Amino acid sequence: MKRFESRNDLALFGAPPAFAEPIHVGRPNMGNREEFLRYVNEIFDRRWLSNNGPLVQEFESRMADFLGVKHCVAMCNGTIALEIAIRALEMKGEVIMPSYTFIATAHALQWQEITPVFADIDPNTHNIDTDAVRRMITPRTTGIIGVHLWGRSAPIEALQAIADEYGLKLMFDAAHAFGCSHKGQMLGSFGECEVFSFHATKFFNTFEGGAVVTNNDDLARKMRLMKNFGFSGYDNVIYPGTNGKMTEIAAAMGLVNFDAIDEFVEVNRRNHILYSKRLNDIKGLSVIDYNDHEHNNYQYVVIEVLDSFPVERDEIVRALQAENVLARRYFWPGCHNMLPYRALYPHAGLMLPNTKIVADRVIVLPTGISLPDNAIDTVASVLRLLMSYE
Ligand SMILES: *Cc1c(COP(=O)(O)O)cnc(C)c1O
Repeated sequence: MKRFESRNDLALFGAPPAFAEPIHVGRPNMGNREEFLRYVNEIFDRRWLSNNGPLVQEFESRMADFLGVKHCVAMCNGTIALEIAIRALEMKGEVIMPSYTFIATAHALQWQEITPVFADIDPNTHNIDTDAVRRMITPRTTGIIGVHLWGRSAPIEALQAIADEYGLKLMFDAAHAFGCSHKGQMLGSFGECEVFSFHATKFFNTFEGGAVVTNNDDLARKMRLMKNFGFSGYDNVIYPGTNGKMTEIAAAMGLVNFDAIDEFVEVNRRNHILYSKRLNDIKGLSVIDYNDHEHNNYQYVVIEVLDSFPVERDEIVRALQAENVLARRYFWPGCHNMLPYRALYPHAGLMLPNTKIVADRVIVLPTGISLPDNAIDTVASVLRLLMSYE
């Protein structure tokens, strides 16, 4: 494989980059500004900024309705939501999860002195491989965290069967999967609970935010206590807890974005279709698909660079970045290769061959409602130039 040396090799792209301003992966999707400002005025008038305010309550009930789940417990971010869910489920010892995910999934365990045990993925779906999960079970295993990577559902039924067989707690990190479905049912009601992130870069944001959703009354009650220092009414602490509360301003952003969900999906879907059309006939590249029989948020435009492509993945990313298209490697080199985990489990990679293959192949391209019109054509022309690079 030949190395691509510099953007000067791309004769077509002369001095200035194709875009004057950088186009990022994960540029926020934002709803209506006036609607948001109306909420801000309400908040000022009420002087109720946090502690389960009316907007958080409205957000939670709207979220539960939308997802078809009994309880939504809104929180300050997805990582705290994961930590609280893990603690409320009383996971301990070892918990099996994919290494191919955002580092927060692993940190939420390690932070509580639970060992994340990394299982390999299916190279076709990029989701956790259930045979690999079985191989990682030990007498210390107490749970499994499935991740709906890119918003495509993890193998839910097979994971539930393993959890039932071994008496393990199963929960899902659904940070990518807001607005996505599995067999027609919205993700959010599977396993013991599911955790969403509403970080600015996600499909749906509340600036920062997160939630745990569940059909389990006891679990929901426990998490409500945990996210508010264990307070049950004034002066009465009945549980150890932390501060995981969502603020009113975050909930306001969520309510505004709720009204724009259909638009966000439609723009992302159109972008995804156009990317696929422009890139899929480039030999050695493929755009991952979404199942059109499900609800998808199409937030991640993911391409895989195969060995037959003449230029290496990292060089492609550099070439796109030189045009100010800030494409990204994602979840490279896998959680198990990040310093804290590499130090603790230096041999984890031996069990993770598919994680390595996928982490070395993937590029995530920008999409979302602020993508400039010609960005997709520019990405396609850079990739076409690289395709013929010798
Ligand atoms: C973004 C993300 C998180 C963390 O959510 P924050 O709201 O940023 O704390 C956790 N898991 C996955 C898979 C994510 O993509």
